[in-house]
Amino acid sequence: MRLDVLTLAPETFAPLLNFGVIGRAFAAGIAELHTHNPRDYATDNYRKVDDEPYGGGAGMVLKPEPIYAAFEALPVLPKRRVLLMSPQGQPLVQADLVRWATDYDQLVFLCGHYEGFDERIRPLADEEISIGDFVLTGGELPAATTINGVVRLLPGTVGTAASLDEESHSTLLLEHPHYTRPATFRGMEVPAVLRSGDHGAIARWRAEQQQQRTRERRPDLWQRWTESGQ
Ligand code: SAH
Repeated sequence: MRLDVLTLAPETFAPLLNFGVIGRAFAAGIAELHTHNPRDYATDNYRKVDDEPYGGGAGMVLKPEPIYAAFEALPVLPKRRVLLMSPQGQPLVQADLVRWATDYDQLVFLCGHYEGFDERIRPLADEEISIGDFVLTGGELPAATTINGVVRLLPGTVGTAASLDEESHSTLLLEHPHYTRPATFRGMEVPAVLRSGDHGAIARWRAEQQQQRTRERRPDLWQRWTESGQ
């Protein structure tokens, strides 16, 4: 998987490459990350990437020319998807990450800054993505979040495929609770069923816990799950 990021702050992506499971996936060549700074494509003497909004108002707006120039310099792989980071985009869900990890060999991320993009940048994107109903200062953390979630799903990144299937949001239900040693910690006991060795009983307990958790914590998901008739 090739990942290209257009960003005014390429250095913010270093932690992705350097730490943990995702860092190892990049080191192993499972994914490759290329950052591109639109400022390098600005043609005026000040390498200006933003300007005042037409009609007035607060903040600066990203100019279209440097973004288009940086975008048009990118290689184009056969199965490419262009994602624009925006609080006005569709809310990111696990099914999106699965779709991008499965269907594409190149993802391009457009990161905004300041007040946002000149509206004419939007047509470059296949999809606009929001990581939630809140506003950050730039698209870098949303892009890094999305990259983490996609690379995590690529074959070879995470130990076993089963651990990906069972977790929260791969179905509509949240995951069941986990325990490890010791059996008693500060008076808090591991449920006896998990120590019973009875795999049928453990599976039933986990299924019940998943439903109970989802009902209590996420009534919205619970309702969709019951309606889905599973
Ligand atoms: N004025 C804009 C917000 C600009 S925030 C508006 O109201 O829509 C600056 C940049 O940060 C955005 O262009 C986007 O790339 C990024 N950003 C901020 N919050 C985000 C979110 N919740 N999801 C995705 N990107 C976000």
